[in-house]
Amino acid sequence: MNAIDSAAALAPRPMLINGAWVQAASGETIPVENPATRQPIAAVPRARAADVEQAVAAAQAAFPAWSRVPPRERGRALLRIADVLEARTEEIARQVATETGNALRTQARPEAQGLSQIFRYFGGLASELKGETIPLGEQVLSYTRREPLGVVGAIIPWNAPVLLAALKIAPALCAGNTVVMKAAEDAPLGVLLLASICQEHLPQGVLNLLTGTGPEAGEPLAKHPAVRKLSFTGSTAVGKLIMGWAAERIVPVSLELGGKSPCVIYPDVGEEEWIIDGIIAAMRFTRQSQSCTAGSRLFLHRKVFDSVLARLSAKVATLKLGDPLEESTDIGTIINRKQFDRVCSYVKEGLGRDDARLVVGGLPPNEGPLSKGYFAVPTIFADATNDWRLAREEIFGPVLVAIPWEDEAQMLRMANDSHYGLAAYVFTRDIGTALRTAHQIEAGWVQVNQAGGQVPGHSYGGYKQSGIGREFSLEGMLDSFTQRKNVSVNLALPPPPA
Ligand code: ADP
Repeated sequence: MNAIDSAAALAPRPMLINGAWVQAASGETIPVENPATRQPIAAVPRARAADVEQAVAAAQAAFPAWSRVPPRERGRALLRIADVLEARTEEIARQVATETGNALRTQARPEAQGLSQIFRYFGGLASELKGETIPLGEQVLSYTRREPLGVVGAIIPWNAPVLLAALKIAPALCAGNTVVMKAAEDAPLGVLLLASICQEHLPQGVLNLLTGTGPEAGEPLAKHPAVRKLSFTGSTAVGKLIMGWAAERIVPVSLELGGKSPCVIYPDVGEEEWIIDGIIAAMRFTRQSQSCTAGSRLFLHRKVFDSVLARLSAKVATLKLGDPLEESTDIGTIINRKQFDRVCSYVKEGLGRDDARLVVGGLPPNEGPLSKGYFAVPTIFADATNDWRLAREEIFGPVLVAIPWEDEAQMLRMANDSHYGLAAYVFTRDIGTALRTAHQIEAGWVQVNQAGGQVPGHSYGGYKQSGIGREFSLEGMLDSFTQRKNVSVNLALPPPPA
């Protein structure tokens, strides 16, 4: 890249406040890096409290009119946005791959393809914002209305940035709320592109998008007195802060937080080949396991422990790490230096333990092309116990621990012995066993004999410290983005005075 191109690439991209594309009030910016090259690729405004103030004021001003737009018309706006998102999928996918390091073929493109589905799903649900009538007798008409909450403050992470943005924007707007969203500092560019497409079909101020850091922009947003609902996806530590700030002024929160999900293999399927792909998919290895639903604790029955691990490690070793934009690449990079160092520290800890057996992977290469980016190698430690730090803490990187089991009750105790409870995976051909296990695992989402991603329509969210609330479905939209009002009307007035 020559000097002129490089200056153009770094010219700060604006953020969206009140329908206008603006810089931060302070004029400050933050750089965005391509984690595959460690080169800066853009700069975005560094929003602070003053910018939050403007964005919330815009959303507040836009709320009365937007909330009175007939729901079907709001739905039509989402459907129009969906058509553009579909047409521009590849552009969004490449932007996300470049800023996150997620491989285009395996992660960024499927993520971008999901956007139009999400907007279509919620666009079609606008007429389902129905209330009920309550049978209180012939003398009273008592009914409920589903009313929007007001300004929604939404904060998203970097791991699936545009998907998670869409999952908050579409239901919140469909229900008649207005939104101030803060993108993650590591991955704001795809979300800015998404917002620019949305803005073409929305009145000004209905959607506002801020870029900036958590403490400088996220915190004033979460604490703002005019924000009537907080919707947060990110770490459990920050989720606790958000919930605390929400408690100060009694506003509802939806939290989608971390996970340390069990992936359970029963012996009846242990020799079958599809299991290997299932474990890899559950672990989200092709997303560098930067997923809160990663099946990162592999409970392998002892009868098939060694044979599954042998085939699993052989298959994992064939996955190709490399340039995220290359079609042949299976696995891209970790998002940034901090996360990369964190993942490496867990691998080092595993390597340093006498009771850990490295099956595949290890520390990242420190020379060759992969050393230029934050490439972490898929790593599996065997013979782990469930009380290792590696088995308890969310690593958010490709480090899988394999734990042997024989007794089902004991395995279930270990699977549930976690402060997280987001997802789980169960593999067996015995449907009775599968469902018994699925029902006993403490997790918001259990998949049996598959390990796919979320699909619009299924209520998604966590048990325990993995979160509160559901956002992916009709019920999620109703519960998370509306409030019920009851209206009771006396139908038995005395006759008017003559
Ligand atoms: P991760 O470890 O995945 O980056 P975080 O919870 O730190 O998860 O970040 C998720 C989102 O929360 C990001 O948009 C980040 O800027 C924001 N965030 C981080 N710290 C705070 C904070 N103190 N207050 C509000 N938002 C925050």
